[in-house]
Amino acid sequence: MSTVLVIGAGGVSSVCVHKMAFNAGIFTDIHLASRTKSKCDAIAASVKERSGVDVATYEIDAEEVPAMVNLITQVQPSLVVNLALPYQDLPIMDACLEAGVHYLDTANYEPKDEAKFEYHWQWAYHDRFKEAGIMALLGSGFDPGVTSVFTMWLRKHKLKTIRQLDILDCNGGDHGQAFATNFNPEINIREVTAPARHWENGGWVETPAMQVKTEFDFDQVGKRNAYLMYHEELESLSKFIPELERARFWMTFGDEYIKHLTVLQNVGMTGIEPIKYQGKEIIPLQFLAAVLPKPETLGETTTGNTNIGVIATGEALDGSGEKTFYINNICSHEAAYEETGNQGVSYTTGVPAMIGSAMMLGGTWSGEGVFNMEQMDPDPFMGMLNEHGLPWNVKELDGPVDF
Ligand code: NDP
Repeated sequence: MSTVLVIGAGGVSSVCVHKMAFNAGIFTDIHLASRTKSKCDAIAASVKERSGVDVATYEIDAEEVPAMVNLITQVQPSLVVNLALPYQDLPIMDACLEAGVHYLDTANYEPKDEAKFEYHWQWAYHDRFKEAGIMALLGSGFDPGVTSVFTMWLRKHKLKTIRQLDILDCNGGDHGQAFATNFNPEINIREVTAPARHWENGGWVETPAMQVKTEFDFDQVGKRNAYLMYHEELESLSKFIPELERARFWMTFGDEYIKHLTVLQNVGMTGIEPIKYQGKEIIPLQFLAAVLPKPETLGETTTGNTNIGVIATGEALDGSGEKTFYINNICSHEAAYEETGNQGVSYTTGVPAMIGSAMMLGGTWSGEGVFNMEQMDPDPFMGMLNEHGLPWNVKELDGPVDF
């Protein structure tokens, strides 16, 4: 019996819960709780229709630790899978500690009043998780998540050391809307409007948001502008690959997205400081998120592919000198929608969340304390990516990237 409790009922959760139900041999008993119970019920209904599996649903405010502890005590899961928002990471970890249950998430903690996503808040739980004899696995989505596993796979099978690393995230999908984000709008906009940061020669180099770009020809998408950004796996990769001289993260954005975002920024709609409106305090970005299309509604109209991967250069394992490898996954939005009723960005995050959960429930990945994906054996996870809808390709390039 593997009972799992999933928190959050957005697009990522929907994909993950569907995938868990499709693998009922691993996930024998699935429970889903979120702030809005009707969203859990809608996911449960779709799962029932597509797989015949029952999912139990609950209403919970995950920031209320005693309520979370009660729910965990009631459900008795082996694992809590946090697919709510980064703000809830710490309260859910607190509840897991109190109830003595393993924890997994896909995005690192962010305080609400500061757009700063860093691991140190969650790493600080390591000793308490260790003492409690339980495991927390951080960042089991695509990026972070699969990008770290791809990198460690290359470092295990192709390269003895990694000198340079570039993560390239391209969403070549078209949702047909003038402006929408493919995952939670508030989190997405906080991420892309934060200053860019990359790792170079042992320190962080900061540049203004969305200023440095390069054109890259993505397989099954085409040429796209990719912008230098900060992304959380840079922190864990630079920690666990000490020889890294440079690590960068690039994400593609279309001209329309940039145009809308620039206007919204210029008029103050992306701000996270509260303002007074008709006697009430509101946060402009939260108001904006409320009027933008919900990511889970984009699936039906989204066409095209995502293409996310890493390019790594380092000393070849076979002693043949310096080599460069590119490893990536291409995911079709239409195929993701057909299988789970969700678009590709939710799919590429929800599937690795299911795989990370399977790794923990089966004991393939185990430990006591707080762990990042880089600390685990990449091979079984890579095997499951191929089997569960996110197959990957690896090829050798002629030389290091020229951008
Ligand atoms: P959504 O906004 O679609 O879903 C978030 C869900 O969390 C909603 O159902 C929301 O409830 C629920 N929630 C919010 N606050 C609380 C709370 N206090 N208590 C209980 N539930 C709450 O987001 P996504 O599905 O797009 O993203 C989910 C997570 O995945 C995010 O943390 C995101 O950063 C991460 N992510 C990770 C990626 C990766 O590759 N690693 C890529 C994309 C996303 P309600 O329905 O009431 O609003």
